Parts: sequence; structure tokens; C-alpha cells
Amino acid sequence: MTIPTPFPIGTILGYPRIGRHRELKKAVEAFWAGDITAEELELTTVGLRAATRDRLAALGLGRTDSAIPESFSYYDQVLDVAVTVGAIPARFASLVGEDGAVDLVGYFTIARGEGDKAPLEMTKWFDSNYHYLVPEIGPETVFSLSSDRIVREFAEAKSAGLVTRPVVVGPVTFLLLSKPSDDAPAGFDPLSRLGELLPVYAELLGRLAEAGAEWVQLDEPALVNESIVVARDAQLNGLAHAYDVLGAVAGRPALFVAAPYGGLDDALPILAASPVEAIGLDLVRGELPQGLDGTTAVNLARKTLVAGVIDGHNIWRGDLEQAFDLAASVRELSSSVAVSTSTSLLHVPHDVDEETGLGELADWLAFADQKVAQVVTLARGLVNGKAAVRAELDAASAALVNRRSAPGVRVGAVRARTAGLGDADFNRGDYAARHSAQEAVLGLPFLPTTTIGSFPQTSDIRRARAQLLRGSLSEQDYLELMRAEIRRVVELQEEIGLDVIVHGEPERNDMVQYFAENLDGFAVTQNGWVQSYGTRCTRPSILWGDVSRPAPITVEWSSYTQSLTSKPVKGMLTGPVTILAWSFVRDDQPLGETARQVALALRDEIADLEAAGIAIVQVDEPALRELLPLKRKDHANYLDWSVGSFRLATAGVRDETQIHTHLCYSEFGVVIDAIRELDADVTSIEAARSRMEIVADVEESGFGHGFGPGVYDIHSPRIPSVDEVTELIERALASIPGRQLWVNPDCGLKTRGYAETVESLRNVLTATRAVREKA
Ligand code: GLN
Ligand code: ZN
Repeated sequence: MTIPTPFPIGTILGYPRIGRHRELKKAVEAFWAGDITAEELELTTVGLRAATRDRLAALGLGRTDSAIPESFSYYDQVLDVAVTVGAIPARFASLVGEDGAVDLVGYFTIARGEGDKAPLEMTKWFDSNYHYLVPEIGPETVFSLSSDRIVREFAEAKSAGLVTRPVVVGPVTFLLLSKPSDDAPAGFDPLSRLGELLPVYAELLGRLAEAGAEWVQLDEPALVNESIVVARDAQLNGLAHAYDVLGAVAGRPALFVAAPYGGLDDALPILAASPVEAIGLDLVRGELPQGLDGTTAVNLARKTLVAGVIDGHNIWRGDLEQAFDLAASVRELSSSVAVSTSTSLLHVPHDVDEETGLGELADWLAFADQKVAQVVTLARGLVNGKAAVRAELDAASAALVNRRSAPGVRVGAVRARTAGLGDADFNRGDYAARHSAQEAVLGLPFLPTTTIGSFPQTSDIRRARAQLLRGSLSEQDYLELMRAEIRRVVELQEEIGLDVIVHGEPERNDMVQYFAENLDGFAVTQNGWVQSYGTRCTRPSILWGDVSRPAPITVEWSSYTQSLTSKPVKGMLTGPVTILAWSFVRDDQPLGETARQVALALRDEIADLEAAGIAIVQVDEPALRELLPLKRKDHANYLDWSVGSFRLATAGVRDETQIHTHLCYSEFGVVIDAIRELDADVTSIEAARSRMEIVADVEESGFGHGFGPGVYDIHSPRIPSVDEVTELIERALASIPGRQLWVNPDCGLKTRGYAETVESLRNVLTATRAVREKA
């Protein structure tokens, strides 16, 4: 290729795509509901993309120097690649048109499933709370360029006079994140298809070049993740091969390979030796590469190094001067240095200026737009010298000083309590004794059935909460409405025949935010939405100060529920790790210290539940796996504080009180030891989507406590048939002793509708009864 146009001096790896006021979510859901047409949806997204580009330009990113990333997606960036390269699983073959493409209806069907066609599996994106769809690749997958959406979006910007930078998940990461298709032979490795996939990427690069793209960003975060099972050698060989091939594409755009979420380690020499023009380093999670061999040092000096020094994961304004110095230090490696965010800004809300209720806290924060401004400031400093941005650096430092000494950030009583903890605070008695004590109290049948906690959040419930917030509904009326809902949910569960009753969580807007609102040390935003998956967004709370519990939180709801039924009611709490994982957490002390503060607040809550006669308490830790550091060297410390905080929260109860936990993923093997260490009496876990694959791991591990692998995939509106559920229970029974086994859905039901929920639960109970009879 010819000499590339220089890489922009400041950029970001990606920008939230859901819209400042969740316009994308609303439009896509309206499309699903049949309220708008595909054309109307497309038109909305044209407007959203234009608004994003304009805003980024207004914040200071260059309009024509490839600084603005083209990072839109209707649903998910990994699904986008699958659809672009034609990797459509055989069961969706009928969605593929004559031209080899799937339309919007087809695209969403692959994401969400339809009838007996299960959707693509969904799993967490690195150590974030974003979920991507897992492509299915087999020997039969025929790769071909099947969508020109990426090219069209670039062209759309071009016709408005901008030269933007398309962002695409890179080929190695795409295959490393894929799973073998149903038709693949045992032991098949999707990465073995790299050779056939690369020509499609090559063709895409060619098309982008024709359209005028000067730089293309290929994201290869899988290379920083040490928990990927494919052998490292194969990964590195794939990486070398991929970029040799793509580097040799005639007339291609310049290539920027970004590696967010951690250090590249041994992948860095490979990228350095490849023909790519720019390499993105996450210098927030990763470190400045040191001790490089001579060849790598020489190779790197020829690249543009894109210093990811502004944290894309959290919302703190942070130490801007330190970030500047860090970016400047990258000049030791190459004279060509640009500044960027460490990851896409997908993980943070749009704009602090949308918030009005945060007071002084607002000054300590940076959401996406503020982070873009920070990047622009640092870039200006790199070009014009530090003095040119002195005022901005000083303002950020002043906010930090202010934050350190603000009331509530360090509370003496909270600190004294965590400092006084001893071993006994973390340990329950022997499991066998607990087991028989609980059996005597609870009297549950073989294969006890329960749900994970939430029932559908109807529009009535959400409306009531909105009215309460606006003041058009009194506290008392709200309480009455929620109680009526609880009565309905309890009756329904009794009628369906569930054994352990939940109250349905109608009073909770969100399983973390609800607790955040009731604990000291947290703030909640009004519009701080971030995408969790597809159209699903969450509004993480901000954990800014020392945490304590001013008053009981759930006790009245649970006691009320227990007053309605003679069956055991399961109290429902969110665990310390998950509260941290799904909040934006203070960065001024170790996570473990913050987790212990949250754990003590929960411990008090559990003691109050127990005293109120609640015999089962579930402490949800769906995020335990998600927070697991991507690098093995960090695991021991993480497991120590995460497991420790769960135990601290739950170890204060009597033997008779049954502690449940719930985890939302199927990669059980990785954290099996940690799950055992939690020492919960019963653990429920997602398993239906992967058709009970995990029970083999559980069997192998000798895990001996209660275990409830999900038999109903609640991520899809599909209703599982009785036969399907029966088969799943029987599969579980083949590996897990019956006395340990519980029957439950994969997760909470809050995102589902009532009709499908009731029918699904009835099928679960019918299947359970059939299996019980056979036993
Ligand atoms: N108890 C929660 C619910 O049912 C658990 C949700 C989750 O694990 N994400 O909604
Ligand atoms: Zn769950």
C-alpha cells in the first residue's frame, strides 16, 4: 500500500450506540412489536449515527481524519460479523435470501430465536457486563461476504462529508469467541477455519477502501484473555497469519488493531512484527510493555501506538495528569503516539450533563462525552506540550482532592467494623449437620422446584413505580399495589405447584439499583443507561463512599409474603460481588475492602430476615464469573476477596437456615472451586441454553451441595416443551445424585411476559412430576 494518512492523534475505540435517550432500544422494540416498519427503523438509526458523529466532532474529534469510530450495531457487534461473513447456523438457513444476506427480521431472529429454533447463545463480553452472541462455526460453515452494512455506514458518513473509521471485531477474536456448530465433529476448533474466513475480511477491507476508508479498526480483545481454551500457540499463529494475509491486501486501508481489556503480553511481538500500521494498548488494565526484545522494540518503533489511557470501563474523571504522563511515556516505544480510551465507551453512559441530581459528585465523574473531551485534551497536550493543557489537568486534580476529603467517602464506624473481622465471621458449621437441620425444617419433596426470584415486571408495575417517583401515587397506594402483585404471584406459584415460593421482586427496578437506593454510599443516576445486551439496558449505580445499611430493606416484603403461604418463602438478596460488578465502583481503594463493607450490610439484612422467620435466603451472585480477571496471575486475589465477601454476608445464620446462591452463566468449570468455596447450601445456575453441558463438570468436581441447573432458557420467548424439560432433568440426573438436584429456570423471569412464563412453568412442573414418578 501507499503511505497511509497518519492515525488521528486522539480517538476513542467505540461509542455507546443505544442513543442518548435509548432511542435505538425504543425503535428496535417498536419494530419487534410491529409498530414501525424496517424502513422506519433504518431511518431512525441513520439519524442516530449522524447525531453520534456530529456530537463526537463537536467534542473535538476530527471530522475527516478517521478519528470518529463507526461503531454502531443494531444488536451486537459479534452477531454483526457473523452476518457479514455469512456464518449463519444451519437451523436459520431459511432466513438467508437469494443474495446470501439476512434482512433485519432475520438478523433479530438469530439473536432471539423463534419457535423451536434456539437463538445464538449469549455470554459475557470479557470482564464487562455486556453480553455478545456466540457464533456457531463448523466445517460446514461457508464464509462469504453477505452484508454490506459496514460499508454502507461508512459511505453514509462520507456522503455527509466525514471520513470515519469502521470498527469490526477482528477475525481471530471472532473465531476464538465462536463455538463449534451442532454439526461439527467432537473436538472441532472454530479457529481451524481462519484460512477460509480471511478472504472475506480481505474482501471487506477492499470494499471499504473503495468507499474511501483510510483506517479500519479491527478489535482483537480475545488475545488479552487468558481463559480462552484454545492453545496459546494456536492463537498466536492465527494472529500472525491473519495479519500477514490482511496486510497483503492490495489497496487496503491502514489497519489499526486494538486490544482492549488488558495487556497483549506475548501477542505484542507478533502484532509488532505484522504489517498493521497501528496497535492499540489498554494501559488502564494492562501495563506499559517493558523488557521487549530488540526485534520487537524495533518493530514497535515503526508503528503508531494508540495509548488507551482513559478508562473506558468506569465513570471516574480520574487523574488526568497521570493519564497524560502515561501517554507521553509511550513515546519511549515509538515516536508516533496517539491517545484513546482503553476500551470502547460502550460500557459507560452518554453524558454527565444529563444528570441533575448528583450534586458535587458530578464533578468527580466522566461519562462517554466527558471521556471524549479528556482524550481530546490529552491529544492536544501531546501535540502542543503539557503546558498547553495545564488548566484542564489542574481542574481534574482539584476535583480529585475534593473527592478524597468529601463527607461520606470515609466513615469511621464502617472502617472500624471491617478492621475488626476475624476468621469466625467467614465460616458456617459443617454441611452435613446443616443439611439434616434444613431437611427437618423445610420438608421439601424429591426434586424441589423453585424460581430464581423475579416474576414478569408488567407495565402496571412499572407504571406504578414511575407514578410513585413523580409523586402522583402515594407511598401507601404503591405499597398496596405491590402487595396485590405479591398475592397474585404467590397464588400463581401455589396453583402451579412450585415448592419454594418467591415474592417476585415487583418492588425492584433492578436487582442492584434497588439495594443501592437503600444503602448509604451509593448514588443513582437519572439517565445513566448502558447496554447489557440487545435492547436491554441497565442503569448502574455509583458506589462512591463507605457503605452501610441505614434500615432493613427486604424484611417487610418477605414477611408479608410468608404470611400468605405455608410453603417456605425464599428471601432474595443481591450478593456483594454482583453489587460491585453492576455498579460503577470507587477506584480509590481495593475492591475487596468495598466488598466487605457491602457484605456486612447484607449480613445484617440476612440476620433480620432469619429473625422474621424466613427459612431460605438466596444471595444472587450472577457476576461472580464475570468479574474474574482475564489474567491468571490476578485470579487468586480476586477469588479470595469475592468468595470471602459472600461468606461474610452469609455465614452468620443458624444451621437450619438454607442459603441459596444463583449464578447466571454456564462456564461453570472455570469457577467450580470458587463456587464450592462459597459454601452455599443450594446453587442454581444457567444450563438450559447449553443443554446441561455443565453437569458433567459438576459431577467431575464432586460438588456435593444442592444444585439447580436451569431447565428453561428465560432469555428467549420460546416456551420449552414438557419433553424438552423432562430430557434436561434426566440428563442432569444422569450426573448429579437426585438428592442434590433442584429444578428451576435458568434465571429470573422479569423480562418475560406472563403468558409464556405461566405456560413454561407449568411444563417445568409437569416434567418434574413425571420424573418424580419414574424415580
Ligand atoms: N433474583 C434475580 C431475579 O430473579 C436474579 C437475577 C439474575 O441472576 N440476573 O431476577
Ligand atoms: Zn440469573
